[in-house]
Amino acid sequence: SDSHFPVPLTPAHVDYSLHYPQFFPSSDQVDRSKKIKFADIGCGFGGLLISLSTLFPDTLMIGMELRDKVSEYVKERILSLRVANPGQYQNISVVRTNSMKYIPNHFDKAQLSKMFFLFPDPHFKEKNHRRRVISPFLLDEYAYVLEVGGIIYTITDVEELGEWMKSCLENHPLFEPLTEKELEADPAVKLLSSATEEGQKVARNDGQTFQAIFRRIARPDQI
Ligand code: SAM
Repeated sequence: SDSHFPVPLTPAHVDYSLHYPQFFPSSDQVDRSKKIKFADIGCGFGGLLISLSTLFPDTLMIGMELRDKVSEYVKERILSLRVANPGQYQNISVVRTNSMKYIPNHFDKAQLSKMFFLFPDPHFKEKNHRRRVISPFLLDEYAYVLEVGGIIYTITDVEELGEWMKSCLENHPLFEPLTEKELEADPAVKLLSSATEEGQKVARNDGQTFQAIFRRIARPDQI
């Protein structure tokens, strides 16, 4: 249950020196101007983070994962990559948490520039839709932690869930879809299927995927 993992009281309580020791050698002298910018929600085994790490080597990123064993595995995987490749993979880390409850404990308003929701659990039954990681209520929270211009990436192999995520985003006043041209130019889009363990599984089975990729826009009264 939730009582088995620590939750930071506020984003200022997240210890960057534990997650990114090369960037923040001491916990007393943390430069608060450099913050986590990408979050991979339900990161699973961490394939996306590892691919993004070398693509954006100066950007701090974190995976959020509910399952203890899986988050421990990702932690070990990152540590061994750091040992095998000195100076690399210093910008990625993982935290065990329930992202549906604790996003605001981890990130400040407008902190993030990218959030990833890749192959989330489908929760097929109508009464379980409230457990989905994309919902009108949770989108308010994601809009709060994303900066204006920040991007939310979703992908699934479950058509019904894909339709659900897309319609939640379309109906939210603070998100707009990326254009085809923007999607083509974005290097992160190419990784959604190819870099994740779940995406690779779907590709091996020649499965279809459904993406919805939207930008956080300014509130009309703030333009
Ligand atoms: N994104 C990865 C990929 O594409 O390979 C993993 C996809 S897996 C099907 C969904 C992951 O989300 C699981 O590892 C699960 O433990 C995690 N998860 C489910 N609910 C979560 C929550 N509330 N907070 C954090 N992680 C969650």
